[in-house]
Amino acid sequence: LSQLFRPLDLLGMVYRTVRQGVIDMGAMFDLIDTEATVKDAAGAPPLAIARSAVRFEDVRFGYGDGREILQGLTLDIPAGATVAVVGPSGAGKSTLARLLYRFWDVTGGRITIDGQDIAKVTQTSLRAAIGIVPQDTVLFNDTIGYNIAYGREGAGPDDIANAARGAAIMPFIDRLPDGFDTRVGERGLKLSGGEKQRVAIARTLVKDPPILILDEATSALDSRTEAEILATLEAIEQGRTTIVIAHRLSTIVHADRIVVLDGGRVAEQGTHAELLAMGGLYAEMWARQQAERRSAEETLPL
Ligand code: ATP
Repeated sequence: LSQLFRPLDLLGMVYRTVRQGVIDMGAMFDLIDTEATVKDAAGAPPLAIARSAVRFEDVRFGYGDGREILQGLTLDIPAGATVAVVGPSGAGKSTLARLLYRFWDVTGGRITIDGQDIAKVTQTSLRAAIGIVPQDTVLFNDTIGYNIAYGREGAGPDDIANAARGAAIMPFIDRLPDGFDTRVGERGLKLSGGEKQRVAIARTLVKDPPILILDEATSALDSRTEAEILATLEAIEQGRTTIVIAHRLSTIVHADRIVVLDGGRVAEQGTHAELLAMGGLYAEMWARQQAERRSAEETLPL
């Protein structure tokens, strides 16, 4: 009989999670995969946010295929700081973000927020405290206002307008035929990559979480739009504990701290200048990306 109820449970969970503000469909599918493993502990209390300090303590994790992706990762993200995570492709940067949001449970060690093990508090309270600006934003076939309000149940028109201003998308909305009521998505107005990014930022501002995960999302944008979006992101990072998953180093040189993941562990960490001076993996990645940039510029038509 319990077999029969499982799909219903799952649907209920997906529905609840959507209402709690999971902000992209990819995340939802991840969740379906993990339904069996991630559960609230009996009598779990809600997360009590104090300063929003995040800590990974000797974290081990694999996706269950025998490979261990994180092999004893220890990382401190002080309250209010911005920490950028970099490393070779497949190093586990996005995995780290998924574990903090508890799409999966760690297989060793623990992750804490203000000293509380995230596996021991309710998922609802954990996810309410964390905002994700994903790489790809999914827009619903609905109004732009709905797409922004989706960040938090019960968001009113003032919340939506304030978020749109914070995300610097208000001038764009003002030019739309029906303002916030303009339909977007596959069956409505098509938004550019930069505009979609701003909707994602506005959604996050509606949620107003103390902890932010920015999965570097600017790689598909032209350099001017990228610079503008980065400035907006920097503004919303103020006063929040932020993890930036970065693929290109040029976008995170100003981070309070840069952490280099390699081989499932923290290989190096420091400021941009400190890491360059170390002459290790980061310095190597920086030199390579600078060279790629120069050769791309040289091949641009005049
Ligand atoms: P990139 O810079 O390319 O985005 P990353 O550092 O973010 O990489 P992750 O996406 O965290 O890397 O992936 C780390 C490793 O885990 C990779 O080898 C990847 O193939 C594997 N992996 C990621 N998601 C899953 C999954 N759902 N199931 C099994 N393996 C996965």
